[in-house]
Amino acid sequence: MKEEIEILRKHIELKGLRKTNQRYKVLEIFLSNEEHLSVDELYSLVEKKYPEISHSTVFRSMKIIFDAGLASKMMGCDSIVRYEHLYKHSQHGHMICSKCHEMIEFDDSKIKELLKKAAKKEKFKPQVFKTRILGLCKKCQD
Ligand SMILES: [Zn+2]
Ligand SMILES: [Zn+2]
Repeated sequence: MKEEIEILRKHIELKGLRKTNQRYKVLEIFLSNEEHLSVDELYSLVEKKYPEISHSTVFRSMKIIFDAGLASKMMGCDSIVRYEHLYKHSQHGHMICSKCHEMIEFDDSKIKELLKKAAKKEKFKPQVFKTRILGLCKKCQD
């Protein structure tokens, strides 16, 4: 977590953003959880420990944490943006259940290699790869 704090601190300095402790508290809660969290979900966790932090602070802090390269965004079936850890986490794809919204992570490195090759052929410079499979999880199939 120390390294992440350092990355966030540098980003805030570089961008000349206002220095408040609350952003680090939001980061702390975000990092202490391995789930894929929407801003609302994260806010309810933050609220339990730091009731003085507002929803809009959580919202703005997550934007900054994302810009600093510490989080990635993904969208579930419910079209809600969720954040997950990015720093030192391996890239992966998501299988998303359209019924219970469960998210299953899987290794998509081979798929990414294929996509990179396809991009190279077109001289296209890829920036973001997102592998997403929508469907029904094991439990929801019967
Ligand atoms: Zn399901
Ligand atoms: Zn994930």
